[in-house]
Amino acid sequence: MQADKNQKICIIPLQDIFSNQRFIHTAFIHCLPHISGISFFSSTSRITNGIRYDDQVIMKELTDAFIADTKLSDTQLTSFFAKESDDPIVDAFDKKAAVHPGGGKSAPLPPPKAQKAFQSILSQPRQGKSTVYIHIPFCETQCLYCGFYRKRYDAEQSRAYTDTLITELQATADSPLQSQGPIHAVYLGGGTPTSLEAADLKRILCAIRQNLPLANDCEITVEGRIVNFGPKKMEACLEAGANRFSIGVQTFDTALRTRMKRVADQNAVIEGLKQLRSYDQAAVIVDLIYGFPDQTMESWETDLKILADLMIDGVDLYQLNIFPGTPLHTAIKNQKMSPGIDRKARARMFEKGVQFMEQAMFHRLSTNHWGRTSRERNLYNQLVKGPSHCLPFGPGAGGNAHGHFFFLQPDYEKWKHLVTEEKCKPIAMMQVSGENDILEKTIASELELCRINFTALGDEFHLPLEAILKDLYTQWEKAGLVTRQHQWWVLTTAGQFWQVNLAQLTINYLQQITGKH
Ligand code: SF4
Repeated sequence: MQADKNQKICIIPLQDIFSNQRFIHTAFIHCLPHISGISFFSSTSRITNGIRYDDQVIMKELTDAFIADTKLSDTQLTSFFAKESDDPIVDAFDKKAAVHPGGGKSAPLPPPKAQKAFQSILSQPRQGKSTVYIHIPFCETQCLYCGFYRKRYDAEQSRAYTDTLITELQATADSPLQSQGPIHAVYLGGGTPTSLEAADLKRILCAIRQNLPLANDCEITVEGRIVNFGPKKMEACLEAGANRFSIGVQTFDTALRTRMKRVADQNAVIEGLKQLRSYDQAAVIVDLIYGFPDQTMESWETDLKILADLMIDGVDLYQLNIFPGTPLHTAIKNQKMSPGIDRKARARMFEKGVQFMEQAMFHRLSTNHWGRTSRERNLYNQLVKGPSHCLPFGPGAGGNAHGHFFFLQPDYEKWKHLVTEEKCKPIAMMQVSGENDILEKTIASELELCRINFTALGDEFHLPLEAILKDLYTQWEKAGLVTRQHQWWVLTTAGQFWQVNLAQLTINYLQQITGKH
């Protein structure tokens, strides 16, 4: 704030006003009696001394000034609009965004700076929600559609990998970052964690308990698949404290499984899930995918029915994304396989999934996730998309802490060398998160829950979000993507299908507005 007593004018940069509620009180309560006016850097609005002291009136003046000052042109605004049609789930946008929405980040830091930044991050305790991601890079076979396959599993590697991972967990165990503040969810993902030997799964889970301050109700998930995951490994995981299994089934249709190079048949998958459920000690969750080449609605409905009959705790329904570089992409390009089904058919499968889950009395946990029992909380998936810390371990794992996003060396041998020989955190890339990172992640994670309250978020972040986003969300309401319920914008089924687009467009829209200052 700049105050000129002679001219009796107080000039306040708008971003200061909205970034600090206290500042507003200080500015208006203490300064107004002594000055004749307040002017904004880039606005013509003016509030004259003595006329208005009521906070709400002042806030309205400020909000109107802010909105007038940051209004996008009609062309800019309409570029964010959805197409209005009778079938919004099919037509709303030209293309469906495939990855998690993200905000601004710096260019990657050069390696020496990244290591230095990590040392500084290590010295700061965590506050708020925290998760841990452990990456296990092995799979016994590569599924045709998979973009995450890294390394073929061989039993010889299990012990060496586990030893290195435990070394990595121990190396920073005493740091304030790792040791202070509860960890609310741990996720062993990959790859196929359940491909590891039983003794090694147990050693990893025990090392997690020893080297991380887990909350009493910490969710500990082991991801995997049914092939090579028998009672011995299941019991080893349960004995060492796993309380959630996320099993990638993708489809129960044996013929489709074979085409996609999934190894076990329908019967083996069902029996494996029943075995896992029989312990009655952990949440059992299944992933199903819609959109495979030649997958029919009939096959999809059968998958949903089998799943409901299994009486497990929860389910994820994901749309297939065919990423360049995957064997499926190559097979389609070389006309060895028909292309994946079109967007209209995928939209209808999503609709069917939503209706089916409602009728089967599963409760909605996010756009893609449903729970059947109270055992399923879906904590990790929810927290990791919001403004929480995530500590990564293992080759290729990604995480973020204290405003820095980073991922670890993905090459297995280099990762091992860095951990065991160089004795450093094997950071491959680090970026500084943008200044609106927390707000952007909060918006993305709220929309993931199929609703958002911009009035409440605006109060939390000291920004008039409801007013800023009103034109945009009103158009999306007309386009059939959201509805208004009290102070909430609630995503329709079509809005849920397009949720990643809506989140990314909301973030981009806010970036354009804030970019005006
Ligand atoms: S098991 Fe999972 S990670 Fe491994 S190739 Fe198949 S889909 Fe990919």
